Amino acid sequence: KAKQQGRNAYEWFTHAFTDTVSERMVLRNDLQEAIEREEFALHYQPLMNREGKLAGVEALLRWEHPDKGFISPARFIPLAETTGQIIPISEWALQRACQDMQSLAQQGLGKIRVAVNLSPLQFQRSNFLATLRQTLLTTGLPAEQLSLELTEGILTDNAEGAIDTLHALRSMHIGVSIDDFGTGYSSLSYLKDLPISTVKIDRSFINELTNSYDDAAIVQGIISMAHHLGLKVVAEGVETEEQYQRLLGYQCDIFQGYLLAKPMPLEALETFIAHLSP
Ligand code: C2E
Ligand code: MG
Ligand code: MG
Ligand code: MG
Repeated sequence: KAKQQGRNAYEWFTHAFTDTVSERMVLRNDLQEAIEREEFALHYQPLMNREGKLAGVEALLRWEHPDKGFISPARFIPLAETTGQIIPISEWALQRACQDMQSLAQQGLGKIRVAVNLSPLQFQRSNFLATLRQTLLTTGLPAEQLSLELTEGILTDNAEGAIDTLHALRSMHIGVSIDDFGTGYSSLSYLKDLPISTVKIDRSFINELTNSYDDAAIVQGIISMAHHLGLKVVAEGVETEEQYQRLLGYQCDIFQGYLLAKPMPLEALETFIAHLSP
């Protein structure tokens, strides 16, 4: 799997789990410099609906280190979570995603909905909602165009505070998706009382969809239960036509993955949107 993604992906994979304390300290210092120098970028991955139309994009953070090159978010985000550096990084990402969508609208490319990933730390901060309102205000992005992706852990850790925040988001008309669904411990029955709009089935289930009866059953089960609860379902990591056809058959609503489009810089997204059939 790592091999398919090329040598770099393989190196990060091995490093991510073997970083020594000193390596982590170096990375942490580099991250501090990256924040100061704004070495981050956002890439956008299209999400497509059943009709093959653009349903929105997911903003994905990229760090281009001056010497080490591209560093995967899977490596630096967990570190930034433990040091608190995730806060300024996330605030930057949210602001940039909103600005970029405004820029697309100004170019006549439409009101594109953007999903931004949230770190648990960010979501639990007391000033989270105030910062969010401020970002919408300064960028002018209509709240309906923003959605936030949270993982199940956020909801199970500090359930009460989290539920209040989710209600506030709903009243602001900001969408909320549960990311990587199926990898945590929460169940759909637990989600039924939460004001969320979408579940994103984790890539690992989609990966095995056409090889494993168990994974196929899980995916079908998630989709049908989510629909009964009035939730939309996104399949992440759709890589093959076979997976796509299977998911269409299961009535999945939205598709994201390399088969449809890879994450891309804003300029490439502009071209992508301009070439979509109306
Ligand atoms: P995620 O939110 O589950 O994002 C989906 C990941 O799957 C992305 O990895 C995306 O590039 C990758 N992906 C999409 N389609 C395919 C596919 O068909 N095949 C495969 N193999 N992979 C696919 P990425 O960009 O490396 O991001 C990794 C994780 O880092 C994200 O997982 C998310 O949890 C976190 N992340 C990314 N950006 C941010 C951010 O701005 N803030 C926070 N807090 N976390 C972020
Ligand atoms: Mg996500
Ligand atoms: Mg995900
Ligand atoms: Mg994932």
